[in-house]
Amino acid sequence: MRIVFLGPPGAGKGTQSLRLAEHLGVVHLSTGDVLRQSRAAGHKIGLEAAKYLDQGQLVPDELVVEIVASRLADDDCTRGYLFDGFPRTLPQAEALDKLLDARDAPLEAALEFMVPHEELLKRLSQRGRTDDAEETVRERLRVYAELTRPLANYYDDRGILRGIDAVGTLDEVFARIMLAVSDLS
Ligand code: ADP
Repeated sequence: MRIVFLGPPGAGKGTQSLRLAEHLGVVHLSTGDVLRQSRAAGHKIGLEAAKYLDQGQLVPDELVVEIVASRLADDDCTRGYLFDGFPRTLPQAEALDKLLDARDAPLEAALEFMVPHEELLKRLSQRGRTDDAEETVRERLRVYAELTRPLANYYDDRGILRGIDAVGTLDEVFARIMLAVSDLS
């Protein structure tokens, strides 16, 4: 199964995509996690990315596409993968399509998490990550609306967009996701 998780910061993509990946036994690939781990380990990519992360800005496309391309080459990716927080821009989405076309394994679905703005602000203010300060949160939401939200149209045009009501308990949202992907192989 090859699925992209779309949705604003605080929508719960990370938690739900990880749970689905474990349930299906496929790879969970979060570019945000990879960047944070790379930074914590003091690697060059992570240190380069840190200045963007802390400002709520996107890391340059080339850098994240490189991360994804190298991860896709690993053996465990043959069974499928869930992308969490990637792609985030149109060039990233196009680069991903190219990578997957070359493997003859196109995306099957893009799940868009939908959460009202007020609820997002509430959730993010409770989380406490270094990029969850109020100013940074506002910037991340702005960046999402400007650069990432248009991807919903991109995937809708390809007929693979599915909306998920992401308000509810973790179990309720997970059940909706299971239903939304139940017809996929
Ligand atoms: P959230 O979904 O809550 O914003 P993520 O862990 O997905 O959290 O992303 C955190 C930060 O990591 C982003 O604000 C951005 O700086 C960087 N990042 C993650 N994925 C990407 C990506 N695909 N392209 C550019 N920057 C990214």
